[in-house]
Parts: sequence; C-alpha cells; structure tokens
Amino acid sequence: MTKTHIRTLRPATQLVHSGTTRTPYGETSEALFLTQGFVYDTAEACEARFTGEDPGFIYSRYANPTTDMFEKRMCAIEGAEEARATASGMAAVAAAILCQVRTGDHVLAAKAMFGSCRYIIETLLPKYGVEFTLIDGVNFENWENAVRPNTKVMFLESPTNPTLEVMDIARIAGLANSIGAKLIVDNVFATPLYQHPLELGAHIVVYSATKHIDGQGRCLGGVVLSDREWITEVLQDYFRHTGPGLSPFNAWTMLKGLETLAVRVEAQTRSAAKIADFLAEQNAIARVIYPGRKDHPQADIIAKQMTGGSTMIALELKGGKKAAFAFENALEVISISNNLGDAKSLITHPATSTHKNLSDEAKAELGITDGLLRLSIGLEDADDLIDDIGFALKAAQG
Ligand SMILES: *Cc1c(COP(=O)(O)O)cnc(C)c1O
Repeated sequence: MTKTHIRTLRPATQLVHSGTTRTPYGETSEALFLTQGFVYDTAEACEARFTGEDPGFIYSRYANPTTDMFEKRMCAIEGAEEARATASGMAAVAAAILCQVRTGDHVLAAKAMFGSCRYIIETLLPKYGVEFTLIDGVNFENWENAVRPNTKVMFLESPTNPTLEVMDIARIAGLANSIGAKLIVDNVFATPLYQHPLELGAHIVVYSATKHIDGQGRCLGGVVLSDREWITEVLQDYFRHTGPGLSPFNAWTMLKGLETLAVRVEAQTRSAAKIADFLAEQNAIARVIYPGRKDHPQADIIAKQMTGGSTMIALELKGGKKAAFAFENALEVISISNNLGDAKSLITHPATSTHKNLSDEAKAELGITDGLLRLSIGLEDADDLIDDIGFALKAAQG
C-alpha cells in the first residue's frame, strides 16, 4: 500500500490503515509504545527537539507514537486536519470549551446533552465568569434569538441523549460563522460513520471514544478534532499543560476498535432498525424514536445530514416507571447499564440513572418521562433480541 493515496480511501479502509506507522521490525499490528518519555542521542539532538527544529516526540503528556496513530486515523475518517486524543469523552468536551473561553464570554448550547456536559456549562463556566444560555436546539429560531455579541462558543449534541432528537448542524454552523463563534459538535451518537460535522460547517468535533470507537466495553477515551490552526494555536498549550491526554495503552485499544468500527456499527444499525420496527407495533409501547424511521420528528434533517440510522433506540412504555422497571427486570439477553455503543445490548432508564440529577421541569422539557428507556443495540442476533424484548413485554404486563 503506497502512502500517497491513503487519504482518499473509503471509510472502511481508512479505519483499518490510516495513521499506521511501523518500526524497523515491520510489525503487522500497530505497535504499543508504553513509554512516558524519549531519549536523545546528544544534548544537541535534545535541544533540536525542544526548539521544534526536529519534530520528534518529547513526553507522552504532549504526544506519543501510539496515540498519534489513533489521532491520525480519526483525522482521516473525520476529514479533520488535526486531533488530540483525551483520557475520556468528558476530558475532550472540557478541553474543547475551556481552552477558548475567558471571563465575560458567552456560551450558547442546546440543553439536550450528556449530563456531565451540562455540569461544565451550567456549573463550572459561571465560576470563571463565563455566561451561558441553554436552549431547545431543535428549533433553529432559538439559536438566532439567543446569540449575543459576546457569544464565543456554541455547543450541541445530535442525535441527542437520550431522546435522539436531531439538530440542523449546517444552519447552526452558518449562524456561528456569521458572528465569529465556534460551533462544537458532540458526535458520539452519530458515530464517525454517519455524520461529518466539519463538512457541515462545524468548527470542532468531539467524541467519547469510550462508546462505539472502543465498542467492546474496555477503555475510556475521547478525541477533539478541528483544523490545524485551532488545534495548534488554541488547544495545544491548554492540552500540554493541563494533561488530559489519552494513555498509549488505551490509544492502542481504540486503534484496534477503529479497525472493526464499520462492520460493528453497520451490523448494530441493521439490528436496531429491525427492532425499532418491531417495537413500534407493540401495544405496550407508547412511542418509539429511531433516527432512520419515517416517523422520526426530524426525518427531513436526518435525510439531509446523516448517512445512516443509529445503533440507539428511545422507547416509551405505557405505564410509567413501574412498567419500565418491570420490563427491564424481565430482560435476559439485554443488560441494564448506562453505557452505550457496546457489542452487548444495553438498556437504561434515564430518569433514574443518567439524567437523575435534572429537575422534574428539566426532565419534562427534554421528554425524559418515567416510562422512557434508552436501548443501545449490540452485536447479538437481532432475532434473539426481539425474542427477549417480546418476552419481557409480556412478563411486564403480568
Ligand atoms: C459518554 C458520553 C460522553 C462522555 O464520555 P466519557 O468517555 O464517559 O467521558 C459525552 N457525550 C456523549 C454524547 C456521551 O454519550
């Protein structure tokens, strides 16, 4: 394989090959450089590293060869110029926001987001004198009405957790550009396969690699991707001096995860689509939200900006918390867990787990009812999952 055309390869091939560098041993698999530092042949060579004249590695808090391969592979699949890998998805979100705001700035965000992201914006930012506004981001007018002259950052997650709402990234990115703000998109639920926020005009993309990128429940990780100028001039010093970097071991695990990302996510999506259709026909179920079904409330935006459905399904049982808990407890193949994107199918009741810290009012605004469940479809045979769900629905009705 020559290196000259590797950037134009199709996604499944990029996920296997992009970013790979080999040692003189010519190993097949990506080498794991489990090292903190690097040695220099001479004092002059050390000096050249530090002046930047020689672009080699200095210290793994800054960069590491294994982590570098993961960042380059993510850049290839995302269409980004540069990336920095982080110890978790939250380290990625925190770094992407905190490296670029100062006292007096305003952050505008869609309120349907991962709970810890909400903590950063609602609780942490005001401690440093940064203002914020949270809006219902599905309605574009809310973004237009809430921008201020000091809006520096806009933040959204699409599809959202847990109700899988979808926002018009291109329009919101256009608004951000028109006022000189940076739009950050948390692209976890879409995966790098189904949505490319940078192509839609967003400035920065963040992932929790803990989810589909690992995909087998092993390591935490995250990544921030953008253009070279923003990464080197805005993020880089924050990143080097606050130390949120991904460990080389976890980066190696993520590289192996990326190799199989396309086959896993495509199989999980096929099963999820089949299961969503099955759920929609069940009497015990009041509502099914699945990006990929024609009855999704933002089906038009999905058709425009996403190239696939989802491995996630939101469903609402008739009979509230009692019915939801009875259903969860009767499942045998699907496990109760707040994680997602795993090879194992997982289900969670957001109102009492991932979103329990929200006020009743905030839950109601986000559609997080007592009967709502979030289902992450894994790699089991879809018919076994359908049998499990069918049995549990009957058991829950008693
Ligand atoms: C899980 C998740 C995060 C946080 O990622 P961690 O790796 O758990 O820190 C952020 N955003 C979304 C959408 C997530 O699903």
